Amino acid sequence: MMFDYDFFVIGAGSGGVRASRMAASYGAKVGLCEDYRVGGTCVIRGCVPKKLFVYASEFKGHFSDAAGYGWHHDGVRFNWPELVRAKDKEIDRLNGLYLNTLKNHNVEVIEARGRLVDRHTIELRGAEGTTTVTADKILIATGARPQLPDIPGIEHAITSNEAFHLEELPDRIAVVGGGYIAVEFAGIFNGLGVKTSLLYRGEQILRGFDREIRDKLNMEMCKKGVEVRVETNVTAIEKTDRGLSLKLTDGSVLEVGAVMYATGRVPNVENLGLEELGVATKPNGAIIVDEEYRTNIDNIFAVGDVIDRVQLTPVAIKEGAALAATQFNKTPTRVDYDYIPTAIFSQPPIGTVGYGEEEAREKFGEDIEVYRSEFRAMKYVLPGREERSLMKLIVQKSTDKVIGAHMIGPDAAEIIQGVAIALKCGATKAQFDSTVAVHPSSAEEFVLMK
Ligand SMILES: Cc1cc2nc3c(=O)[nH]c(=O)nc-3n(C[C@H](O)[C@H](O)[C@H](O)COP(=O)(O)OP(=O)(O)OC[C@H]3O[C@@H](n4cnc5c(N)ncnc54)[C@H](O)[C@@H]3O)c2cc1C
Repeated sequence: MMFDYDFFVIGAGSGGVRASRMAASYGAKVGLCEDYRVGGTCVIRGCVPKKLFVYASEFKGHFSDAAGYGWHHDGVRFNWPELVRAKDKEIDRLNGLYLNTLKNHNVEVIEARGRLVDRHTIELRGAEGTTTVTADKILIATGARPQLPDIPGIEHAITSNEAFHLEELPDRIAVVGGGYIAVEFAGIFNGLGVKTSLLYRGEQILRGFDREIRDKLNMEMCKKGVEVRVETNVTAIEKTDRGLSLKLTDGSVLEVGAVMYATGRVPNVENLGLEELGVATKPNGAIIVDEEYRTNIDNIFAVGDVIDRVQLTPVAIKEGAALAATQFNKTPTRVDYDYIPTAIFSQPPIGTVGYGEEEAREKFGEDIEVYRSEFRAMKYVLPGREERSLMKLIVQKSTDKVIGAHMIGPDAAEIIQGVAIALKCGATKAQFDSTVAVHPSSAEEFVLMK
């Protein structure tokens, strides 16, 4: 049977772009549809613009530290529209690069919303009307979107999507949520001079991470001026003359200019035709796939946030690449999900890989040893900044293997990448100890812990 394409991908984000580009490079005829902007969440409204905003918000701290080094500056001011314009320009540039790469690999990009009609047919609804195409194999890489609770007035809330395009910064904002996106945005707004409250219903932010790191971030955020309120949720949002009035579970009312929700993300599976076709999903909508990212319909695949395994860009990219290699290059490839390092671009930032202390204790009981080092980064001594870094190593006693490494402090994201390689190689504490330190640095603490 002849199809229009060997491979058709729905969604041009991290996973979809990598899978389509690789499949085309192996000789497949590939089509790709996208209903917003090529690049997906990470490039257009996730990792990249977020990190640019983090950089922008860190300058406040840099300016005040500068005096400790003899630098004095007067009349520093911040211009939000200028930042948004500069960020948009960079996102346009990256979007152009993605489009060029796809074109150079002969991937046909169609600006349209895709929906499965049958196991080989996709309906494409775009500005120029609706068409259908056929494909031998189909990949669903439609990502995820913010999830909002069903409370009165929720229509007045924004999510990270809108935060990137605010016309002006509010004087005061509440960020609701306790995950990495919530803490990152609380740091961004606070750093840009917005009075910021972080409201989280759980007992401590960053559930699932090492406890000491979570406690430390809470403390350091408070020192920087963020009001962190745990075990607190919003029950209703009301629009007032002055802005928004948030009713909280403790009975109090918080008046803000804006409220941003970062309370989790759900797979984008609406109107994809999955139910009609019988594609199996989990209760939260995540598409169920096997080790080869194959759904229960054997020519339909899914990767990335829509399968809700690990919602991170590098994971979606690896899944897309593995799928393309397996299906189009006769090279069965599996993604190794062990020891995935992650960074949280909070202020201070966090870098982490492997087991947290509590998780390690649960799994290995008494068979673990914890090494820790807490110190003030050298950079902060002259300015007198009272911010302390914390680094931890979790070691399995019986094997001497380092099974967890955690850091909160300047450059944590940059430092943890190298440490993650050591953990993946199964490095032991003795091997960490025998590694010569890079001096003077914060990173050296990882090889000096006694
Ligand atoms: C604010 C924020 C910050 C983040 N920061 C980080 C970070 O620092 N590091 C990190 O690793 N990850 C980060 N992430 C997560 C990361 O962005 C995602 O894990 C990654 O983008 C997932 O890739 P994907 O290909 O699965 O989906 P996406 O990148 O979301 O791409 C899916 C694409 O499919 C399109 N689409 C959806 N439905 C259809 C349809 N029916 N037809 C056509 N197109 C469709 C969407 O418009 C989208 O472009 C962040 C996410 C957010 C929201």
